[in-house]
Amino acid sequence: MGVRLTIRECAYTPVVTCDWCGKDVHDDGIVEFLSNTEGVVIDDRLWFVHQQCTICFEESHGGHSKWRHMNINVFMRNMISVTNFNLSETPKRKKKRRSNETK
Ligand SMILES: [Zn+2]
Repeated sequence: MGVRLTIRECAYTPVVTCDWCGKDVHDDGIVEFLSNTEGVVIDDRLWFVHQQCTICFEESHGGHSKWRHMNINVFMRNMISVTNFNLSETPKRKKKRRSNETK
């Protein structure tokens, strides 16, 4: 599952979904990837799982020794760093007006 788009509050919204349980991943996520015994990445695919789903995911996919993982917050920071995304230039979402707000 990994990263997919959904519509929330009338806007396309990226959502990270756990590749083990299927529920949304937030800051409790782990990015899993395959490596050899020397730690060299052997498959460029990424899997996203909750911290509590890591053991079950790894055991059902060949065992812990094949997998390396990274905290999702570290992964996102690294991705922003290597891609030079400029988050200060991204448009801010408009806040949805509540129906009981005075106009
Ligand atoms: Zn999960």
